[in-house]
Amino acid sequence: MENLEKQIAEILQQRRADAFERAARDYETAKRDEVFARLDFDTRELTLKTSFVRSQGKPDEAGEKKLARLEKQRDAWLKERGLSIHPVFTCPVCKDTGFNEDGTRCECAKKLLDELIKTRSRGTLPPFTFEQNDIDSFDCRQRETLNKAYALYKKFAEDFPDTPVKSLIISGEVGSGKTCLMAAVGNALADRGFTVLFTTAFMFNKKLLEYHVSDLQTKANILDEFLDADMLMIDDLGTEQIYKNVTLEYMYDIFDSRFAQGKSVMITTNLESDEISDRYGERIFSRLFNKRYCSYKRLMGDDLRLAGSKKATDD
Ligand SMILES: [Zn+2]
Repeated sequence: MENLEKQIAEILQQRRADAFERAARDYETAKRDEVFARLDFDTRELTLKTSFVRSQGKPDEAGEKKLARLEKQRDAWLKERGLSIHPVFTCPVCKDTGFNEDGTRCECAKKLLDELIKTRSRGTLPPFTFEQNDIDSFDCRQRETLNKAYALYKKFAEDFPDTPVKSLIISGEVGSGKTCLMAAVGNALADRGFTVLFTTAFMFNKKLLEYHVSDLQTKANILDEFLDADMLMIDDLGTEQIYKNVTLEYMYDIFDSRFAQGKSVMITTNLESDEISDRYGERIFSRLFNKRYCSYKRLMGDDLRLAGSKKATDD
């Protein structure tokens, strides 16, 4: 969420700056007109005079009335031309600061956060939803499995984060529908306001390598996105090139850090559990197959229930 907060602050700052800049520009434009320049000069002069007299405790009633009249004339002149010499904020309530007077967050900032979360999640997710699934295009046996799986994962998305386990691995062969299923979970979570980062194992791996070769300063932000989102989705684990002492270390760190923070991971893979163990090693395997965090399902007529797998470790 940290990056989103920063983004919101930047957007609001920009809105405020734009409002002031527009006002200054309008003032310049208006001043080029003789009628306005006269009105403006008189208004300013009288403002000074009346406020001085007022501060002396002898308000000049006639002067105040004249000032009100002048201001009205000046505003009318500006309004007629669609100009404003006062900053017009996107949100008049907080004047684009994002905060109410009592220090609470303004509704406009909450709305902005909501939009950013949705845009960010949507940007990475394939457009599959539980409502528009195309299970009918699969053969019969697969359709039955998939229907069960859809019901199961739909419930997961509805109950999230109060689910028996927070993380899921869906294993299945190419064309088993596992990516659609994961995307449907992702879109349902994004609809509910959770941040979802969907990436392929290939891109994930590429980022880990990029991290490895970056200097310290650049390093700081590269993996943030993988740690930040409420749900990290990795599609097609097992298809990427792995580097045992490099990418696997970072992969372990990311899973470990996410699980420690109670954050979720969802993975699709064509590998079976023992193949995952062989390929990624005991450390990653024991993280992913820890019953407390993760449920492993193979999408091929397996019994589908959300509990730890038979091969799961206890810790
Ligand atoms: Zn506001």
